[in-house]
Amino acid sequence: MTGKSSRFPLPLSSVVEKKGTAASHVPSRSPEQSSAPVRKVVTPQTATRNAAQDSGRQAAKAQAAQFVQPVGKSASRATLPMPAAASTRAAPLVSEAVRKAMAVRVAKQGVSDPKVLAAMEAVPRHMFMEPALASQAYIDASLPIGHHQTISQPYIVARMIEIMRDNNKGKVLERVLEIGTGCGYQAAVLSLVAKEVYSIERIKPLHELAKTNLRPLRIANIRLHYGDGMLGLPQVAPFDGIILAAAGLEVPQALLEQMAIGGRLVAPVGGRQQMLQLIERIGKFEWTSETLEECHFVPLRPGTV
Ligand code: SAH
Repeated sequence: MTGKSSRFPLPLSSVVEKKGTAASHVPSRSPEQSSAPVRKVVTPQTATRNAAQDSGRQAAKAQAAQFVQPVGKSASRATLPMPAAASTRAAPLVSEAVRKAMAVRVAKQGVSDPKVLAAMEAVPRHMFMEPALASQAYIDASLPIGHHQTISQPYIVARMIEIMRDNNKGKVLERVLEIGTGCGYQAAVLSLVAKEVYSIERIKPLHELAKTNLRPLRIANIRLHYGDGMLGLPQVAPFDGIILAAAGLEVPQALLEQMAIGGRLVAPVGGRQQMLQLIERIGKFEWTSETLEECHFVPLRPGTV
């Protein structure tokens, strides 16, 4: 039932959808992110959470200390600097075990791409949160990052990247674009599965926060942009993968145009009720669209603030 589009330029509404094709192993999701008042406390009572609370307290302290230090010359420049940097400088006991538990949980929720799971295990999520919330960094929830925005729930971060990577067909993604940098966490995960990551944020203080969060991790292949992600980055396009971390009523036309042929775009679409949508560009003037699972993201908004 894959639909073929008509001619380019193409309003998304004209892309024929495959409905109800959610992978059967993926559980229906409860709301992931909320545009309603952000939750300060989340309560899944799991071993992971308990572990996270204990070790996260140490992480928070260590993290607070770390932010007042200049970025150390000792920081590694290896492809995967995060685990080492995080575990030695920020949270010796926390990060590895609790992150591994988080990756195991995400796998149980249906994510099977080993490269994505390894990336989830590698990125020190607690370093993207303010110290007071670091203890909750590894639970399965979105959490506030200020400015009425949230860091996405681990499951949905992993799931979107898995979908973008084409369900583990082993393709190496060259260039990907994220709309909605927020605190920079998903960009860090993406940096481990793609050669070049571009990420756009429309709220200046969050763009700055992401820079601050990412700096100590010394990730060489991320480029952060302050601007309206609905316009994409035409100067850098085409992209093999595009992920939207905020939900619009439709996917902006500019982003469709900036997909490489063979590229995949994953986006939450909708208002109060949102569905994850996968769009593939199958030809110069042809796209297909597939509706996957339910999700809940903060809204995609035009312009910058
Ligand atoms: N990727 C983040 C999630 C951030 S929440 C993570 O790793 O957790 C979504 C973000 O999208 C918010 O920071 C919001 O400001 C941003 N956003 C919304 N509309 C946008 C737009 N048009 N351009 C760029 N960013 C946008």
